Amino acid sequence: MIKIGNYSVDVIESGRFGLDGGAMFGVVPKALWERSYTKADEKNRIPMAAKALLLRDGTNTILVDTGNSPFMSEKEQSIYGISFDQFSIERSLAGLGISAHDVTHVLLTHLHFDHVGGAVVTNDDGLFPRFTNARYIVQTEHFQYAQDATPKDRASFIASMFMPLEEHKVLDLVEGETEVFDGIFVERVYGHTKAMQTVRITSGNKTLFYPADLMPTGAHVPIAYGMAYDNFPLTTLLEKQKYLPRIIEEEWIVVFEHDALRQAARIVQGVKGPQLSDDIIITEYDN
Ligand SMILES: [Zn+2]
Repeated sequence: MIKIGNYSVDVIESGRFGLDGGAMFGVVPKALWERSYTKADEKNRIPMAAKALLLRDGTNTILVDTGNSPFMSEKEQSIYGISFDQFSIERSLAGLGISAHDVTHVLLTHLHFDHVGGAVVTNDDGLFPRFTNARYIVQTEHFQYAQDATPKDRASFIASMFMPLEEHKVLDLVEGETEVFDGIFVERVYGHTKAMQTVRITSGNKTLFYPADLMPTGAHVPIAYGMAYDNFPLTTLLEKQKYLPRIIEEEWIVVFEHDALRQAARIVQGVKGPQLSDDIIITEYDN
């Protein structure tokens, strides 16, 4: 746990999965991304995490993103290598003394299945919000887009993972750059998908940044290391160029949502451009 202002900040491991390494690194040759991330498996997949944030200030218990769904078909789970053997959101929360009912807000960066999948559970009565006492926060523009996405990322939106939030009237839509809670700022970016929101927690000279899929792993810090999944790769590049000088200058702690090798790091200016500084462990896990 680290403290930023009134908030205790933890990283919640919600499960593991795997995606094609080539798709994760776009135009970067395998020889390079294998060196800066890790070796691919026999299906060319690289290990991926889905790390939520947990922010607590004594009144609110805020979860940022929810990882993959345990309710996908076996076939889909095997395509994406989705596994909850090592980590699950319940076990990670329980380790911090939190149950799903304690969560007051779920801040969703965007509605791709690997970010919203944990938000909804299913039983004989249908689909309903997993965090029963929580409001769910998403950008209006993104929520609209998710229901009518481009062919490029349409397959990443699974309506049954987020429409139940609307049906149960627990969705709060926000517009643009907003201080959603005291010291917690969201901001829209457009390269990965339309109006994804980044999350920044700031107090005094201390800032923690959760860029979601703008920089999914620490290996995506170099400007040219972008994902083939991005709707607008050039926009991602420009958005990174906009954020990185501030991240470096103000020594922000960056949490990498999909990085299976590290939780967080600061970024420094190297000879070849922005690069990772030492890894930071925010929340200790036994395994
Ligand atoms: Zn993602």
